Amino acid sequence: MTDLPASKKLLNVKYEIRGDLARRALELESNGSVITYLNIGNPGNYGLGAPERIKQSMAANIASCDAYTNQKGIFPAREAIIMQQQSRGIMTGDVNNIFMGNGVSELIDITLRALLNDGDEVLIPSPDYPLWTAATILNGGKPVHYPCHSANNFIPVPTDIEKLITPRTRALVLINPNNPTGSVYPKEVVLDICKICKAYDILLLADEIYDHMTYDDHHFIPASSIDQNLTMISFSGLSKVYRACGYRVGWLSFTGDISKASGLINAIDLLAALRLCSNVPGQWAVQTALGGYQSIGDLVIPGGRLFESRRAIIDTVMESANLSLVSPAGAMYAFIEVKKDNFDDYKFALALLNEEHILVVPGRSFNYSESNAFRITMLPEPNILKSCIQRIDNLISTF
Ligand code: PLP
Repeated sequence: MTDLPASKKLLNVKYEIRGDLARRALELESNGSVITYLNIGNPGNYGLGAPERIKQSMAANIASCDAYTNQKGIFPAREAIIMQQQSRGIMTGDVNNIFMGNGVSELIDITLRALLNDGDEVLIPSPDYPLWTAATILNGGKPVHYPCHSANNFIPVPTDIEKLITPRTRALVLINPNNPTGSVYPKEVVLDICKICKAYDILLLADEIYDHMTYDDHHFIPASSIDQNLTMISFSGLSKVYRACGYRVGWLSFTGDISKASGLINAIDLLAALRLCSNVPGQWAVQTALGGYQSIGDLVIPGGRLFESRRAIIDTVMESANLSLVSPAGAMYAFIEVKKDNFDDYKFALALLNEEHILVVPGRSFNYSESNAFRITMLPEPNILKSCIQRIDNLISTF
């Protein structure tokens, strides 16, 4: 055997958050360099672990975790998701139409595999969380990016989205609160997007994994609360708000009028069955996580770690002549723009890593059309972020 070529299906598939730059960081680390990682939204790596009660509920049920479960997941977890929906006024959910997965990541792939025929189009924001584009391509679909401009605070313009619809459009992806931009969509925007999906018979896929992470007076509006008749799927999980990325627990939930959705629900059920079930111990943490006191609330208000880290980023960027930022209204990332012509985000990120040992993600890794941006996570301590941004600013001045 001379070589082992990869499948051609992977030709345009990318996930640069863990790509070449991250590999270069490991190489530098193995040579003794200390790297500041600003590339991944992994709270547990920055001293923001899962709340104690969540850990205990998993530990207390560990003896019940030996067997495979139903492919949809354990009942108490799915029932807790229905209870959360009801507390938000969403009354059309059903435990039978909820699927637990190994993170939202697995469920994005399963959903698109169940939904798409070759050449079907999926409307995806640009910039996006790049798994949506990657999974669309892997499953034979065609990503069609709808632009979210910084001049509009990275909030999409529904009439612009409408212009991209063709007879092949099957689904529209909404990421709210947004990764990578931190934008939180106003109610009217979510409403207009729901209207478009209804008018053109497009399946709305609402990735709402950062649902409780909003700052100042910004509020998250679940898409499923807007129109109780619209057929849609919402996605969420334990990774971000509950700081339990490693548990690998996510869920998807059908809501609205599901009278015509049985084909898709059965297809997702089949794909879920093919992988038997998702990680069981983590599912036992869901009921505790979703009920009672929501500790994320302490982190996103003044004095809270995420709020203060965000404030440090905003203040330091404001002091810079080279950088600008749309203040993140939610989630845990800052999508920072560079005020220089012909800036090359990839070259810059590599130079920053080699020279300053700081790892950021170039804006184009998020299927962004401009080359003048990069994303950092807001998870480190405020003083670390302040110093990193000052070093970034200094490097850009000479770049
Ligand atoms: N969706 C968005 C918008 C994300 O930012 C992430 C992870 O960063 C995921 C989905 C996947 O999360 P997980 O697979 O950990 O549930």
